[in-house]
Amino acid sequence: MVNWKEKVLEREEQLLDDLKQLISIPSVLDESLATGEAPFGPEPKRALDWLLEEGRKAGFSVKNIDNMAGHIEMGEGDELLGILCHVDVVPAGGNWTYGPFDGTVKDGKLFGRGAIDDKGPTIAAWHAMKLVKEAGIPLNKRVRLIIGTDEESGFRCVRRYFEKEEMPTIGFAPDADFPIINAEKGIASLVFTQNMRIQDGQLLAFESGSRTNMVPDQARAVIGIGISKIKDQFASFLDTHDYGGSIVGDENGTTVLINGKSAHAMEPNNGVNAAYVLATFLNRIFEDGQSKDFTQFIIDAFGNETRGSYLGLAFNDHISGDTTLNAGIVSFTPEQGGQVHVSMRYSVTYPFEEKIATCNDRLKDTAFTMEVKSNSKPHHVDANDPFIKTLQEIYTSYTGEEAELLAIGGGTYARVLQKGVAFGMLFPGRDDVAHQADEYVYIEDLLKATAIYTEAISRLATNKEEGEHE
Ligand SMILES: [Zn+2]
Repeated sequence: MVNWKEKVLEREEQLLDDLKQLISIPSVLDESLATGEAPFGPEPKRALDWLLEEGRKAGFSVKNIDNMAGHIEMGEGDELLGILCHVDVVPAGGNWTYGPFDGTVKDGKLFGRGAIDDKGPTIAAWHAMKLVKEAGIPLNKRVRLIIGTDEESGFRCVRRYFEKEEMPTIGFAPDADFPIINAEKGIASLVFTQNMRIQDGQLLAFESGSRTNMVPDQARAVIGIGISKIKDQFASFLDTHDYGGSIVGDENGTTVLINGKSAHAMEPNNGVNAAYVLATFLNRIFEDGQSKDFTQFIIDAFGNETRGSYLGLAFNDHISGDTTLNAGIVSFTPEQGGQVHVSMRYSVTYPFEEKIATCNDRLKDTAFTMEVKSNSKPHHVDANDPFIKTLQEIYTSYTGEEAELLAIGGGTYARVLQKGVAFGMLFPGRDDVAHQADEYVYIEDLLKATAIYTEAISRLATNKEEGEHE
């Protein structure tokens, strides 16, 4: 077996130079400068062109798909190994110690927007391909580095790519975490709408949250109840609530503000939903009517637990764990009643149609109806698949660590592959600095990942693989 670690070390300088060059292109989506020739603006196209040119110069066959995506290919055979990465980045934002597009090296780290998401991993995978080619390893599969330029804002790149190009037989995306993410929950947007009854003058407005994928950390309500009637009750309520709130008003009405704690929708229990906390307070002071129907529903359906039991949506499996519900946007007006936008992350074996039917049935006893607004199916590659076993062996041999399989409630880029997993390149224990100021990659990690990807390509794209290995 070739020791790729040594081979990678020999080209450390070249690898870092390439990464700096790619980082120096500020490949942020710019709709205002988008044209037919540069559908996401000039810079994402420039990053794509740069990498494809590198591929061409090194003697690979390359293809540009409508300036949205492209690939660099080597090898031969009917089957295709895909490595999916992206060269677009999120905007730099402020507060950087080093220039976000400078690629500064300091204390064993390389700093820059895209260093870990996803330019560093892209360069690691690209050099891995070059190493395999230069080593002259005979491949019986084709290998493609598939390069997207719109991963950060909606995946239009890969949607177009796979409309025109074949789906890889197997693949991995170095755009998340090591060791291996082989299960990603389904993600559905559900909207619960309150059927109108008679306006009762209690709740005049309620708003909380702006995105379904986050736990709302603030909620605000305007009520038609004088402040003196509720002041004491609110003060004692705040005593039992850790995140604070405030109240202003007069004898005719009051505005109540509650703070919560934000968290990602993939585990709502890590946060405190401000809409639920505010509904709990209001529910104590409201009398029967549509205002109270609204607050009671928030409490029953989303407050007491985040697993969907009340709604009949609860389900879990050993592969991916609990189904979770996040009430991310909650609103009410007297004219239109209440509305709750929910991000549901459902287990990979979830009986979707059956569960939705049960939910609709249970809602008959409430003032609410539900609609599925969007549904992105779960993604899962079986743990016993030889492809997974091979990646596990490689990971363990290069790190000395067990290659645990991960199931997550978020979605990764690997979702767009039919049989693909997320494979790196953030190592366990490392801080996830993607999308943050001073984004960086450890140079040591970059080199280790390059060696891992080189071994992965050389094993997965040669005869021994897929079943007969051992
Ligand atoms: Zn990414």
